[in-house]
Amino acid sequence: INRIGVFTSGGDAPGMNAAIRAVVRAGIYYNKEIVGIYRGYEGMIEGDFEEMDVRSVANILQRGGTMLKSARSKEFRTPEGRKKAFEQLKKSNIDALIGIGGDGSFTGMHHLYLEHGMPYICIPGTIDNDIPGTDYTIGYDTATNTAVEAIDKIRDTALSHNRLFFIEVMGRDSGYIAISSGIAGGAVSIIIPEEETSIDELVEKLNKGGKKNKTSSLVIVAEGGKSGSAMEIAEKVKEKSSYFDTKVTILGHLQRGGTPTYFDRLLASKMGVAAIEGLDQGKTDAMVGIRHHDIIFNKFDDIMNQPKDIHKDDLRIAKILSI
Ligand code: ATP
Repeated sequence: INRIGVFTSGGDAPGMNAAIRAVVRAGIYYNKEIVGIYRGYEGMIEGDFEEMDVRSVANILQRGGTMLKSARSKEFRTPEGRKKAFEQLKKSNIDALIGIGGDGSFTGMHHLYLEHGMPYICIPGTIDNDIPGTDYTIGYDTATNTAVEAIDKIRDTALSHNRLFFIEVMGRDSGYIAISSGIAGGAVSIIIPEEETSIDELVEKLNKGGKKNKTSSLVIVAEGGKSGSAMEIAEKVKEKSSYFDTKVTILGHLQRGGTPTYFDRLLASKMGVAAIEGLDQGKTDAMVGIRHHDIIFNKFDDIMNQPKDIHKDDLRIAKILSI
């Protein structure tokens, strides 16, 4: 493998730039040519490529977002779209790919590999931490810290007015951000997609807190939960108890931005180097991951048919601490 294309795809995540930098620099260190592919699979189909050198990734380590831009491509989901992408890669003599993105991006690379034999390594980059085969994905730590900062600020105002706040955090179908930021932010209750939540039990818990003269209550709600959005849950709670002055805050895309934490920069740097070394050692159709601080590789078929379980013990801890 001599010439490697690198791209970011799906939702952007803080730390993606650190991963691009690591791929480019490690690639050059191992005498590879590195080509930046802009706008994910969209740019791949259009041939929006640029040669990268050591300087092209200067001063991006600390920046949120992705210098290569990201996109979602409908066309790439079709065999015809993937054929076009493959032809562009061949035209530019790219003989392997490193893609940074979520499970959808990983699936896209897997299809390109099956249909055209293009070797690749996926680097898990998504704030949702919802990819099996790794303890952490790039961006999750930063997004969770951002959520905790926001929760702390909301608590100040909740305290001043004896209010009940429902705070909706991101995570798609995964409760990782909710549970971690909920514990770190001292939430009275955490509602996640992985668990059924009874509105009656929630109201009972909040009433109990009220009787104990709790001056502020924060409930963290993961988006994509079966019990509804933060707004819907707040409405249901209000119906059952007129006692509360209830407010809803949806943190939304502010969780995607910002300077990546040291943790995400370190993770991205390790994974970027590992992806280059993995390709060089003949690894392909796989994702780099981290387990107990060590780099691992998992084949697509070994991890992508498994759900990623939430840390059950974290849930238990949250319940103990919110009495
Ligand atoms: P995030 O978790 O942040 O949303 P993601 O990588 O899962 O990131 P998706 O939008 O699901 O984001 O996927 C990114 C792109 O990967 C899609 O726009 C599409 O082009 C491609 N892709 C996703 N699923 C498939 C699939 N089943 N087959 C082929 N390509 C796919």
